[in-house]
Amino acid sequence: MKRSFTRSGVAVLILALTVVLAACGGNNGNKAPAASGGSASSPAASGSASVKGDGAIKIGLSLDTLQEERWQKDRDLFKAAAEALGATVDVQAANSDDAKQIAQAESLISQGVDILVVVPHNAEATAAIVEKAHEAGIKVIAYDRLIKNSDVDLYISFDNERVGEMQAEAITKLAPKGKYVYIGGSEADNNAHLFKKGAFNVLQPLIDKGDIEVVFDQFTKEWNPANALANMENALTANNNKIDAVIAANDGTAGGVIQALAAQGLAGKVPVSGQDAELAAAQRIVEGTQSMTVYKPIKALAEKAAELAVKMAKGEDVAPTRK
Ligand code: BGC
Repeated sequence: MKRSFTRSGVAVLILALTVVLAACGGNNGNKAPAASGGSASSPAASGSASVKGDGAIKIGLSLDTLQEERWQKDRDLFKAAAEALGATVDVQAANSDDAKQIAQAESLISQGVDILVVVPHNAEATAAIVEKAHEAGIKVIAYDRLIKNSDVDLYISFDNERVGEMQAEAITKLAPKGKYVYIGGSEADNNAHLFKKGAFNVLQPLIDKGDIEVVFDQFTKEWNPANALANMENALTANNNKIDAVIAANDGTAGGVIQALAAQGLAGKVPVSGQDAELAAAQRIVEGTQSMTVYKPIKALAEKAAELAVKMAKGEDVAPTRK
């Protein structure tokens, strides 16, 4: 049975911690405000994961991908934090393949993990993982990305809408008027929709005023930089290269966008946003071809998730508060 994620039993923990890194402008800092909302209670402990009583807690970590630098950090930091709490972690990465992610999760379930932590490739398809885990009495944590239409036990992430707002705020300061391109993330990833919503919270009043026109707006299949490059080439061609600013949803897509701009001699002339504070993006900011990135403290997310995973596997109440 499909149920909405907003049902009261789903606990949400938002880490409202993001920092903008930019080459200039100086308006940096811990700017992400707490999102509104009350508290969400933790899932009922009854009827779910039972601790197997055979020593260490076993955690299954199912990752969509290791394509972006950050996921390697997530994996390493999560593993270290969980191990420090006496747990063991079995990590699987699915290379952006839904069937593979589901099969890997099934294998973790049959190996008898005490809890599953999932970064879903596809927000909808991975609901099958939650169902299968629950049939086996195993709880599921959605890590960084939401699993939709499921009874997922906990969702832990950043304030992703705020990330999109920060991107648009920085770019509209640099280009208050003109033709805009929006290069989104993967449509299958709920976060891509939150980043976009945040960006358009800032853009819409300027669009309504007639200052900004969004001439190209596309998601990027699999968050793949090569697809972002192709989209940006199309945007440039369709507009005779007359583009004033680009909001790219993350550093990977920004890399593709900047490659397309460079081929037209426009790199460094058109502001481009990003996210993740990847090394390559930080270098582009120094070189002047990328305007900003949003740094999200992966360590805080990974460590909190590991702590909660161990607690939930032990059947303890985690009582997260939506902030
Ligand atoms: C994450 C971003 C990441 C993107 C691509 C999103 O869900 O929030 O940090 O860049 O996925 O992996």
